Formats: sequence, structure tokens, C-alpha cells
Amino acid sequence: MKILVTGGAGYIGSHTSVELLNKGYEIIVVDNLSNSKVEVLDRIRELTNRDFKFYRINLLNRGELDRVFKENKIDGVIHFAGLKAVGESVEKPLEYYHNNITGTLVLCDLMKEYGVKRLVFSSSATVYGNPERVPISEDFPLNTTNPYGSTKLMIERILEDLYISDREWGISLLRYFNPIGAHQSGRIGEDPNGIPNNLMPFITQVALGKLKRLSIFGNDYNTHDGTGVRDYIHVVDLAQGHLKALDKILEKPTLDIYNLGTGEGYSVLDMVVNFEKATGKKVDYTIVDRRPGDIDICYADPSKAERELGWKARRDIQDMCRDAWRWQINNPNGYE
Ligand code: NAD
Ligand code: UDP
Repeated sequence: MKILVTGGAGYIGSHTSVELLNKGYEIIVVDNLSNSKVEVLDRIRELTNRDFKFYRINLLNRGELDRVFKENKIDGVIHFAGLKAVGESVEKPLEYYHNNITGTLVLCDLMKEYGVKRLVFSSSATVYGNPERVPISEDFPLNTTNPYGSTKLMIERILEDLYISDREWGISLLRYFNPIGAHQSGRIGEDPNGIPNNLMPFITQVALGKLKRLSIFGNDYNTHDGTGVRDYIHVVDLAQGHLKALDKILEKPTLDIYNLGTGEGYSVLDMVVNFEKATGKKVDYTIVDRRPGDIDICYADPSKAERELGWKARRDIQDMCRDAWRWQINNPNGYE
């Protein structure tokens, strides 16, 4: 079985590629390396002892992507490729809409042309906007608050319409909560460019001494300690969720939507305490103003994925902290 992985050099794509290869799938990776490094591909090969083809291609380039479909008999696609920084999407909305939406349209058009009608798509809990209550289940109202989130919601709608137009498609929309951590080997992990936007890579860089202290964005939220609460999920659990979702759509056509989270919420302060406990490293912090657009609390009801896919996150918050730290100390400058 041959799976095309778009964005396979990225954080979640690389971990999913490892899981696919370990389960015996053949993979073809397409990535333009706009937010990743070519080195990750050798790490994937090293971890799995398997080889695969890599195309350095921009999804917006239909001619080049056509070549991938022509040269390979693809059975299904896992589509990670996209731009993902919320703040940057507010500054560069056209770039985000073009890259994420046009990229997906070009991909789907070629899939249609070549009769490849199996697609797993990386959506996000951001499509729930500021939810009225928690835990969040898949039938909650959808509403986005920034261009990045809007690209995810629009792509979900496009893929739903595609399924309505042709029920031979099998499409799985996976709404991720907050992926953190790294492969337990410490060989692949999250490698943000510049100063990290997300909490966990910021914490690991403070613990390493690369950054001075963590700025906690607000302690007046409506949560148990005033800091924002999220559903952090180990990236390897998330990767394994993709294989379950893929198995289901390969079996028969359908349109599925699943939350991939743990169902547990941790505040920013809980994360600091857990990280310190898991690693023995101190994380200095200071409380600063809220970050615009942040919400109080967000965690999943992941029971649909458990019921229908037999998938459940197994790694706990200590595992997530330990694995994130192992990756960081083994690779102080990421893949460089
Ligand atoms: P990432 O940036 O590490 O990986 C995305 C990859 O896609 C990168 O390697 C990048 O070079 C590539 N890419 C981007 N645009 C491309 C294009 N036009 N053509 C070819 N390659 C392109 O991000 P990630 O954290 O691994 O996220 C993967 C997917 O999951 C993204 O779609 C993201 O929006 C989504 N997601 C991520 C999170 C998260 O917190 N990391 C949460 C929810 C959803
Ligand atoms: N956060 C923080 N300081 C940081 C980065 C994040 O206090 O440097 C908080 C943020 O306000 C949110 C949580 O940590 O409550 C998770 O933020 P992240 O950006 O990792 O994910 P988000 O849920 O915003 O996508």
C-alpha cells in the first residue's frame, strides 16, 4: 500500500511517516521544506531502516505534483502540508489562503484525475473557535477567529462538498488538539524557526538556557489557576491516530470527522510544574498580558475516535514532557 504524505518533513508528518513505515506501508513524501529541513528524512530512514522517495515540490505547482502521481501508483494521501502560524496568518492572510486552500485544491484535483480517492486531512481544534463549554465534541458549532483557522474550516467544507459530489471518496478530517513531545528516540521532534510561538518548545528552550524565561500570557482566565488550559497530546499518539483513520477509509468510502486529543486539560502553570517534575530542570517564568485571540479553555471529548477507530491517546503528560526534553537536549539547534 502506497501512501503519499504531503508535509512529511514537518513535525507531525515526520512522526506519522515513521509509524506508516513501521506498519509496512510504502510512503512518498512531498514537501517544499518551507518550514522543515531535509535532514529529517534521513532520520526517518534511520529510525525505520526503510527507504522512500522524496519530492521537494510546492503543492501549488500542479505540473510537478502531477509527476508524482504519474510516477507512483498511490493508494491514499495524508495531507499535512500547510502554513500553521496563527499570528503570521493575521499579517499575511493572502499567503495563508493561497498556500493552504489552493494547495489542497490542486492536490484534490490530481487525486480525482488519477482516481486516488482516499484522503486524511490535518484539521485543528481551532475550528471550534471559542467553545461555549468543554469537553468539545465533533458536533459543536464551528467558528474561527483568524485566517489560519479559516483555511482549516474552509478546507473541511471543500472536502465535505467533494464527498457529497462523489460518494466513492473516503475522507477523514482530523481535528488535532495541542500536539507536543517527540519520538522517544530523541532523533525527530519539533524544530520551530526562530523564537517558538508554542508553549512546549518555548519551555524546552528556557530549560536549555537558550531563552531567558517563559512569558505566561495572562493569569486572569476563567480556569483553575487563571492560566490558559489546553489538551496536550503526544505527537506519536497523534501519528498513530492517522493510521487508524486511514485504515477505516481504505476499507470503505465515508466522510469522517474526529477529535484527536486526550480529553484532559492542563493549564500553563500545570505544564511548567509537570515539565520540572519530569526533567528536573527549572523553568523561570513571568506573567505578562494576554496574547490577543487566546481562549480560556479547550479540551476534547475524544470518545468518538475511541468508539469508531479504536484509538485512544496512551502517553501521559510526563511522557510528553520527557520526550520533548530528550529531543531538545540531543538537538539543541534542531536539525541544523
Ligand atoms: P509543520 O510546519 O512542521 O509541517 C508542515 C509541512 O508542510 C512543512 O514541512 C512545510 O515545509 C510543508 N509545506 C507547507 N506548505 C507547503 C506547500 N505549499 N507545498 C509543500 N509543502 C508545504 O507543521 P505541523 O505541526 O507538522 O503541522 C502539520 C499539519 O497539521 C498542518 O496542516 C497544521 O496546520 C496542522 N495542525 C498542526 C497543529 C500543531 O499544533 N502543530 C495543530 C493542529 C493542526
Ligand atoms: N502560552 C504562554 N506563553 C507562550 C506560549 C503559549 O503562556 O510563550 C500559552 C497560551 O496562551 C495558551 C497555551 O500556552 O494558553 C498554549 O499555547 P500554544 O501557542 O502552544 O497553543 P494554542 O492552543 O494557542 O494553539
